[in-house]
Amino acid sequence: MAYIITEKCISCHRCLSACPTGAIATDGTTFSINADLCNECQGYYGVPQCRAGCPTNGGCVPAEPTDLSLRAKLETATDYWSAWFEVYNQRVARLKAAQYEDYWQHWFESYSQNLQKLQTQAKDGTTVALVP
Ligand code: SF4
Ligand code: SF4
Repeated sequence: MAYIITEKCISCHRCLSACPTGAIATDGTTFSINADLCNECQGYYGVPQCRAGCPTNGGCVPAEPTDLSLRAKLETATDYWSAWFEVYNQRVARLKAAQYEDYWQHWFESYSQNLQKLQTQAKDGTTVALVP
């Protein structure tokens, strides 16, 4: 699954630098997404950055709507279990991506706290226990 850029794009350039995989290209006027490079930002961000930062309503959208409810998707599917697993895999992938982002948020917060404690310790000459 990839994202695509539609005719609603106003060529603001925001998505170009936001894409972590280099999937977005432009000829200076129009923008496009290489479906082979787009991975919906999985492993980088909890949400697709091109869509999140796009100032338009619908300039950057999933190639296939991913926000259909499970019920709606299953009701229209010709192959029930194929559709079920597709929805399941999408949701698992999103959850994993969100956890990845939380992990690094936690890591940076702990790192900052420990750094501040070390600086305080160096200033005061005291011993402070660090958060593991
Ligand atoms: S969804 Fe993510 S990887 Fe795909 S084009 Fe948008 S920013 Fe790039
Ligand atoms: S962020 Fe949206 S409007 Fe701006 S270039 Fe990308 S798709 Fe077009």
